[in-house]
Amino acid sequence: MSILEQLEQLKAEAEREIKEASQQSKIDELWTKYFGRKGGELTSILRGVKTLSAEERPAVGKAANEVKVFIEELFAVQKEKIYQDGLAAKLSAEQIDVTLPGKWKAPGRIHLLNITMRRIKEVFKGLGYSVVSGPEIETDYYNFEALNIPSNHPSREMWDSFFLREGLLMRSHTSPSQVHVMEKQEPPVRVICPGKCYRRDAVDATHFWEFHQVEGLLVDKNVTFSDLKGTLELFAKGMFGHRRRTRFNPSYFPFTEPSAEVMVDCFVCDGKGCRVCKNSGWIEIMGSGMVHPRVLKGVGYDPEKYTGFAFGMGVERIAMLTYGVDDIRLLYEDDMRFLSQF
Ligand SMILES: [Zn+2]
Repeated sequence: MSILEQLEQLKAEAEREIKEASQQSKIDELWTKYFGRKGGELTSILRGVKTLSAEERPAVGKAANEVKVFIEELFAVQKEKIYQDGLAAKLSAEQIDVTLPGKWKAPGRIHLLNITMRRIKEVFKGLGYSVVSGPEIETDYYNFEALNIPSNHPSREMWDSFFLREGLLMRSHTSPSQVHVMEKQEPPVRVICPGKCYRRDAVDATHFWEFHQVEGLLVDKNVTFSDLKGTLELFAKGMFGHRRRTRFNPSYFPFTEPSAEVMVDCFVCDGKGCRVCKNSGWIEIMGSGMVHPRVLKGVGYDPEKYTGFAFGMGVERIAMLTYGVDDIRLLYEDDMRFLSQF
């Protein structure tokens, strides 16, 4: 076979082989096969050109060079094709379908009771009150005695408590916190004590055995009932809107004298009368009164020198009134359909 014939054959073979190569490793292998310095098929032929006669050499040399350029071009094209094919495959494998719905995670929410509690705290913080907490397990002394409720006092029935062993009980109101605060510090005192309370109430739409109260206490020199009124009026406006009016009805609590129920004109019907205010136009929002001198004396304050007022509100009640919730049990059932509304 002449060299020209060999070149033709090599060219055809190389074209077929290179176009079939689908991996870079195969391309490298073929490159060595044709262009390898030792035993490369085209390299050998090119070397053979030198042994030809002077007449033959130019034509064969030219042909050999053309074949060399042709095969090099084949390699370049195929290498690019392999690279592009690989890239396309990779992109297709990693493709993201942006039209698919995302994985939804329910965001955390603040419970309605916490929202209400935070708002109450904010209003009183704005009035210069600090927030303190007291224990949920109390002794009979703090829950009753120190608050002017001796053991034979008929008003103990107002607090149907959960008793534990050895004179301990679950606190049935946040008022004991007042006593703890006053025992620890001298007047002036200006605190609110939010927290959980427990009573052996039969559960219905407005009663639950666990509930929250916010207790408030201010003791200083020359504190009068009008300070109480002014403070709680400000609270009512801060909590329910600046147009709200308040009214104080005489009431009874063993630890305050005089005592008053705080009423706010109905923020649902604007005082016209509705289901929420039972057509009276007024809603009771808390109990309050001037701290009983016996309570002050009990913690070592001089009732001749200091006076004070205290108030307490049910957080559930405020939340239910504010958000139009008609059953307290909804606040304790962890039903997301209900809770996610707020
Ligand atoms: Zn109303």
